[in-house]
Amino acid sequence: MDIDDNLPKTDEEWRSKLDPHRYEVTRQGGTEAPFSNEYYNETAKGMYKCFNCGLPLFSSDTKYETKIPGLMGWPSFEDAIPGSVKFQPDDTLGMHRTEVVCSRCGSHLGHVFDDDGAESKTGKHYCVNSCSLKLEKSE
Ligand SMILES: [Zn+2]
Repeated sequence: MDIDDNLPKTDEEWRSKLDPHRYEVTRQGGTEAPFSNEYYNETAKGMYKCFNCGLPLFSSDTKYETKIPGLMGWPSFEDAIPGSVKFQPDDTLGMHRTEVVCSRCGSHLGHVFDDDGAESKTGKHYCVNSCSLKLEKSE
């Protein structure tokens, strides 16, 4: 386990640790551009961990390619590793959404939606920013 025990504690420490784009997405709740991020079409097997603290978040076994307009172009997952994420209401941008954050370091990961397209076995659709994740590929 490459869990980082020296996590930043203040916003200023996060800002100095992360590149500006990653800081904006993971600590300010930003959203990266679709179709130009690292993992949206990644098919390798492995574990997607929190980029900022190393906590295992999503298995590649739960990753799928969505056909839902508006959610295409980011990594989609059916489920998270139990206990690895927390949920909080997000009413920004005039929408009612559920934000998904890392349960360990609180970094913003993305949002979870009810699966309207019958694509996901769990009925949930996790739409996650690639830059919040680091894929550890299995052999
Ligand atoms: Zn984390």
